[in-house]
Amino acid sequence: MKLSQLFGKNKQTLAFEIFPPKPEVPMETLFESIPGFKELSPDYISVTYGAGGSSRGRTVEIASRLKNTYGIEAMVHLTCVGHTMEQIDEILDSLKRENIENILALRGDPPIDQPDFDFSRGDFRHANELIAHIRKVGDFCIAAAAYLEGHVDSKRLDEDRRWLKEKVDAGVDFLITQLFFDNRLYFDFLDRAAQIGINCPIVPGIMPIFNAKIKTMTARSGCSIPAKLVLMIDKYQDNPEDLRKAGIEYAAKQIRELLDGGAPGIHLYTMNRLKSTIEILKAAGLR
Ligand SMILES: Cc1cc2nc3c(=O)[nH]c(=O)nc-3n(C[C@H](O)[C@H](O)[C@H](O)COP(=O)(O)OP(=O)(O)OC[C@H]3O[C@@H](n4cnc5c(N)ncnc54)[C@H](O)[C@@H]3O)c2cc1C
Repeated sequence: MKLSQLFGKNKQTLAFEIFPPKPEVPMETLFESIPGFKELSPDYISVTYGAGGSSRGRTVEIASRLKNTYGIEAMVHLTCVGHTMEQIDEILDSLKRENIENILALRGDPPIDQPDFDFSRGDFRHANELIAHIRKVGDFCIAAAAYLEGHVDSKRLDEDRRWLKEKVDAGVDFLITQLFFDNRLYFDFLDRAAQIGINCPIVPGIMPIFNAKIKTMTARSGCSIPAKLVLMIDKYQDNPEDLRKAGIEYAAKQIRELLDGGAPGIHLYTMNRLKSTIEILKAAGLR
């Protein structure tokens, strides 16, 4: 099923994002938790596409098992960085074969060891080009990424939003946001997006704080952490379990407020953690 059919049905969607295990880790370490995730009745599960290339091959395989073995609707993330058009077409063909109809189409980040990577030398320079290509060659539901605080590469926020509009116009069905910790950013962003004619659903991406590593992650992705959250992380820095619990409570509150405020759904970055996901949904009143 195309995920675009879910929106606008007076229902708020629930999605989990998972990532493939590293190549040396058996697939079953992930699949042991899939029945548990399924019990939480997600509308779909999305599977990331390894930035460094290492676990890329596993994304389609995992999505296919989710869909064809477990009966869970699946979405693959697909980055175009470092791929030729021919390689992208091979992946699209494999998705068609596996009956996977949903793609989160992304540019991707430069390889870690090449910070000055030249995107202009590839077949696709930006996500909008990948999206236009997917639209041309297949019948997929296409999602794309949105950055409430602007993408780290952007010099100006309004410029980033203009490119976002161009990306949506290339054929996006819905957007998923980068992590954020202040819901006001999301609601303000909805207004700004509407002002420039972005009318597709914008699903908030929620990253629970599982440990103090979140500071590095946010620094890399250009997301801000509200002062109260910094204090919370510092308070529990020597007590990982208490930090995890506080993080769960924070994420649950964020989710509740977003849904009550009319968000079209929630995209939860689960980090493959089933127990914490269950706790978050319970605390948010979704179980
Ligand atoms: C929900 C979500 C899931 C993600 N999943 C993954 C994943 O599985 N694997 C992974 O490797 N990464 C993933 N990422 C990260 C993403 O790949 C990076 O943030 C990447 O740097 C940008 O990808 P994009 O598709 O947003 O790029 P783009 O939309 O191409 O934007 C990148 C930058 O270029 C600018 N820009 C956009 N279009 C143009 C244009 N036509 N001309 C000039 N400038 C332009 C934008 O303003 C922005 O600054 C994810 C991000 C999100 C929010």
